[in-house]
Amino acid sequence: MSEPVLFIDDQDRYDRLRLISWWDQERIRAARVLVVGAGALGNEVVKNLVLLGIGTIYLIDFDLIEASNLSRSVFFRDSDCGQPKANVLASRARELNPDSCVVPIHGNVMLEVGIGLIKSLDVVVGCLDNREARLWVNRLCWKANVPWIDGGIQELSGVVKVYTPPDGACYECTMTANDYRLIQLRYSCPLLKREDIQAGRVPTAPTIASMIGAWQVQELLKLLHKLPTDSGTALVFNGLSNHSYKSKLPRRDDCLSHETYEHIHQSSFTHQATVAEICAWGQQLAGQELSISLDRDWVEAMTCDSCHDQEKIERPALSVSHGEAICKCGQVRRPLMRCEIPPTAAFQSLTLSTLGIADWDIIKLRSTDGQEWHVGLEPMEKGIHPALPCSNPAATTSSRGHGHER
Ligand SMILES: [Zn+2]
Ligand SMILES: [Zn+2]
Repeated sequence: MSEPVLFIDDQDRYDRLRLISWWDQERIRAARVLVVGAGALGNEVVKNLVLLGIGTIYLIDFDLIEASNLSRSVFFRDSDCGQPKANVLASRARELNPDSCVVPIHGNVMLEVGIGLIKSLDVVVGCLDNREARLWVNRLCWKANVPWIDGGIQELSGVVKVYTPPDGACYECTMTANDYRLIQLRYSCPLLKREDIQAGRVPTAPTIASMIGAWQVQELLKLLHKLPTDSGTALVFNGLSNHSYKSKLPRRDDCLSHETYEHIHQSSFTHQATVAEICAWGQQLAGQELSISLDRDWVEAMTCDSCHDQEKIERPALSVSHGEAICKCGQVRRPLMRCEIPPTAAFQSLTLSTLGIADWDIIKLRSTDGQEWHVGLEPMEKGIHPALPCSNPAATTSSRGHGHER
């Protein structure tokens, strides 16, 4: 047996990476990753992912670029202000390395990302600044059984957490009563106030964004190479004291996030199918009548107790703003919320999309006795979910910003 020869090829973009003993550039090229959030952390994470040559990177953010982002976001320029963060970051990232296919989604992760997309991925990287979105991403990843790496930064400090369902602790396991209270607060008035979700204007420096973003990507590399990771552990760095430590997170057995979809019945429907179509198909499958069970409230209508005016809304509560709850007469209207949709006359012609079901989602059908069937939907455009290699990313850009314009 001869020693492996180290062959240096300066013309190969990935040569210095390939010299790492355990490195598998083909594995990295085949990898599919979703980055949630295109702010300071998202910029740093995407920078590292494209330098490494990660094959497919989905990037979702509903925000637009503002001047205050420019001090911490390496890909944004003054002239980009007012443009969607996801789209600008994706196109600049492709310049850095055309080998990476970066697919931007200008939209809200809580409305636009289906479990089917998550299931097609190797890893999700969270670059978020609020509890609601983290909790949502956590539940999506648990249902899809896909690991996710959460990053958080504040001032000069930060934390990285690697979650690998179905084992170990998840994000929700560590949520305190106060965390739930703060989330509930947003939903209780009675509808989510869109502006509040952005309240997380956390003070941070670009330096800690680089450090934590890099740490997240290093953990991602370990997951891709099946190296040991600190799953279910908080990796904490205090930038003032230069103190860093690991803290094992406790797993909570009654945690609501620990639901993994084991058996999925794949349908040929997209989320443009109607309630009648999917329920009829489900009835064939189950031999009994089924309803669609939503994971969150959907607003059927709003009623005014004062002037008795009623208006059809037919949108997920999440996309209804507080302002819309105000009646013409000035009173606050009462939302009629549902999370169970039967195939009755009132609902049968509605599309799944109208119910707030995302593209490429996996939906839940439920019988009257509480049995559940998980049904996979097909993606709307096969083109935005390309098999490698990605031929023309510019043509596949998706912009789906409805419901959260500013
Ligand atoms: Zn949990
Ligand atoms: Zn009224």
